[in-house]
Parts: sequence; structure tokens; C-alpha cells
Amino acid sequence: MNIKDNISLIACRWETIQQRIKAVQDASLLAAPRIKLVAVSKAQAVEAVCALLEAGCRDFGENRVQDAMVKWPKLRAQYPDVRLHLIGALQTNKVKEALTLFDVMHTIDRVALVDAIARVQHTLPDMRCREFFLQVNTGEEVQKGGVAPSEADSLLRYCQAHSLPVTGLMCIPPADVPPAPHFALLHKMAQDFGIPHLSMGMSGDYETAIRLGATHVRLGTALFGARNQEGA
Ligand SMILES: *Cc1c(COP(=O)(O)O)cnc(C)c1O
Repeated sequence: MNIKDNISLIACRWETIQQRIKAVQDASLLAAPRIKLVAVSKAQAVEAVCALLEAGCRDFGENRVQDAMVKWPKLRAQYPDVRLHLIGALQTNKVKEALTLFDVMHTIDRVALVDAIARVQHTLPDMRCREFFLQVNTGEEVQKGGVAPSEADSLLRYCQAHSLPVTGLMCIPPADVPPAPHFALLHKMAQDFGIPHLSMGMSGDYETAIRLGATHVRLGTALFGARNQEGA
């Protein structure tokens, strides 16, 4: 499919998926009353992102600070009410840039990162980020970021002690197993901790995530079609 055809499809997918989300939400007892569709725009052409902005989407996810810094300041000048979500691993040397560009961070997962944020967050004149989600490695996979479920409680306390407002939990279940037990675990942890937001569910499993209480679903390919560089 050429780029033009794909761009005209993006607004349709945006409408269809919102209806789908609403239908699943209405049919599920555990569904959150408000669900945010975060459009994952990593590695997408600016034209594709603009198609979604014009359709009314305002929440976007990026996984690399550097890429987002190239793409978003210009778009944000046109659409000042855009909210950017960091959904990829954050290196401590990019913390300042990330705090001034992103509104929500979904990937707080270690003490060193909390320290780096706490050191600068009250000194940045253009600090933007107000919401921090802990990424939980529910599958305890070595190659994945996220705090182990057994250590989430202590990381949460550490954040609180360093005046980092943790308002959500996020997970990426292992690729090769049913995701529902992972979503259920995250939901249970959020209830135990009294944390309101749950960032879970991607293109392949967002309906399951909504049935288990997701408040933020992160959709890339379901909206944009296949990415050029997978994982980029
Ligand atoms: C890429 C990515 C997504 C979106 O994945 P799709 O399967 O394309 O919807 C969601 N969350 C994270 C953390 C990602 O890196």
C-alpha cells in the first residue's frame, strides 16, 4: 500500500477503534469509566501523525526521547493541547530533555532514574511532566525493562519519598503467552497500591486489557498500519 492510501485510512481506523473501545468498555464490568487511546507514533511519517491530529487525536506515545525531540516541538506549536507519553526506556542522561518534552512517563523502573529525576525536577524552568507510571516487568523477562513485581512496592515508596507523583502502572506482557494474567496482575497491584491508572494493551491485545481495567491503551500498528522499522 502506498503512503497516500494509508494516510486516508488512518482517520477511519481512529474512528473504528474508538467505537470498538466504547463497545468493549460498555460490555465489561471491570472496564475503566474513561479510557485514553494513546497513538504510538514512533517511526511514523509526520504526514501520518498529522492525519491523526486532524482527526482529533491528542495523546501520542514515543519510545525514544531523541526522535520525539525532532518531531514534536513543531507539531506542538500547531496543536498546543497535545499530550506526549514516553513509553520507551529512559536513560538518566536524557532525563532533562524528557521532563521538558513529555507530559506522562510510563517507564519509571529503577532507583537511579528516580534519583536523576528528583535531582532536576524542581530546577527546570520548563518542566512539563506531571505524571509518572511505574513499568512493571510482569513476565520477569531479563531483556525487558520494568521493576520486578516483588520490588514494585519499594520503588513506589522511593518515588513518594522523592516527591515523584506515581499515578499509574504500565506493563508489556511477554510476546508468546496469553496476556490476560499479566493484565490481571497489574490491575491487582494498582488496587493494592491505590494507584488510579493502568497503561496496558497494544494493537494485538487492547480489548483484553480494557476488560481487565486498562485506562491507557497504547496503539501503533492498529492505527498507523505496519511500521517501517520494526521495534524502532
Ligand atoms: C511500539 C509500542 C507499542 C505499540 O505497539 P503496536 O503493537 O504497534 O500497537 C505500545 N507500547 C510500547 C511500549 C511500544 O514500544
